[in-house]
Amino acid sequence: MDKLPTTQALTCKLKLLLTKEQAEAVHSTALAYRNALNHASAVAFANGKMSQGMKLQTLVYQDLREKFGLPSQMACNAPRQVAAAYKTLWERDKSNAAHKAKGWTKRRYKGLDKAPKFTAMTVTLNHRRDWALGKEQTVSIGTLQGRIRCRYEGWNRHLEWLEHTLDHGITLGAAKLWQDPVSKAWYLLVSVEKALNTKATDNITTVKGVDLNRRNIAVESNTLGKCRFYHGGHQRHLAERAASTRSALQAKGTRGAKAVLRKLALRERRLNADTAHCVGKAIAEPHAMVGLEWLKDIRDRTERRHSKKASVKRRKANRKVSSWSFAEVQAKTAYKTRLSGGVPIWVDADYTSKTCPICGHIGRENRPNNGLLFVCAKCGHTLHADLVASRNISMRTLLVRQVWARTGRLSAVPETSGNEAKAARLQKYAELRWS
Ligand SMILES: [Zn+2]
Repeated sequence: MDKLPTTQALTCKLKLLLTKEQAEAVHSTALAYRNALNHASAVAFANGKMSQGMKLQTLVYQDLREKFGLPSQMACNAPRQVAAAYKTLWERDKSNAAHKAKGWTKRRYKGLDKAPKFTAMTVTLNHRRDWALGKEQTVSIGTLQGRIRCRYEGWNRHLEWLEHTLDHGITLGAAKLWQDPVSKAWYLLVSVEKALNTKATDNITTVKGVDLNRRNIAVESNTLGKCRFYHGGHQRHLAERAASTRSALQAKGTRGAKAVLRKLALRERRLNADTAHCVGKAIAEPHAMVGLEWLKDIRDRTERRHSKKASVKRRKANRKVSSWSFAEVQAKTAYKTRLSGGVPIWVDADYTSKTCPICGHIGRENRPNNGLLFVCAKCGHTLHADLVASRNISMRTLLVRQVWARTGRLSAVPETSGNEAKAARLQKYAELRWS
């Protein structure tokens, strides 16, 4: 049984206002920490690409203390961080093997061919031991040269939370020192847990579904028939322009071109984060259950095709698929929904754009020429295909809501353990009718 989460993890980004000496102390600490990470990474690699933090710690702790001069907390954090990075690489390796078996890709995963190199200037800090909030918007941070205390800036809402942690149900956690690679300014990225408004989620009054796709960023519709499109016209224009610049630079392949590419990648990441933020913010509302698609099989659904013969149109479509981060939009939507007092859930993504919401008829033929329009082959129901998908999602969400109300059990994500359970769910979906 899944219980509703009572807290939401998030990050407060604080810009540190450092004196020249303080900045130097922070810089040398970050440099030592980065060297320590790369040392631990080499050791982990030499020992079977190890992903167990404690084991790696026993191997490198002494060296990190003596050769790299790290205080004991950091000498524990570094191997833990490296082990976690290896764990992620192993997971990717595993999913690559699965994708290869399914014929989705022919490429072999190369992430574990050599020890991953840590290039970013970041330091993980434990709350109270290595960092702490002070009075009057100040923070103290442990460096290799001793503790420093400085003022910080940030979003007004975050500043308010940090000023009155108790009033806002904020619990402080670990923090990361981070240097912006472009502006060279130092930031403290503070992980916090925020208590959620459980009173709002006890009383759900709206149920809606959100469809993500490559034409629009998102289409939302609630079970009362209201709908909203998030076209992201401007964002899409920027993403497409970035994609064409990228391919031109890749073709050039010079050192200078590569440097510009790296900058471009950062900018694209910011653009994606910004897009996800805007969409998530617009969708989130209190007392709402927000249904999202379980996109673990997204590649299946978007029908990517890789072949030399792929048409220009096809390649352009593929690029649009990869330039949107569905996962990021979903994650931001879920997190903002929780923060505003709603409940995000995930439903199966199967046939959401091929099922008629009026008569239940399922089939490819409901999408003549794979076009924008949904035309039911059985009852003739005609509607924008993305709207059909979001209506189907909202009906599946309503189903989850009803089961929750009836049994007191909420399945926030579809149970993936058995094919039988899924077949039963698909059967139930097929009986849903839009009214
Ligand atoms: Zn129909």
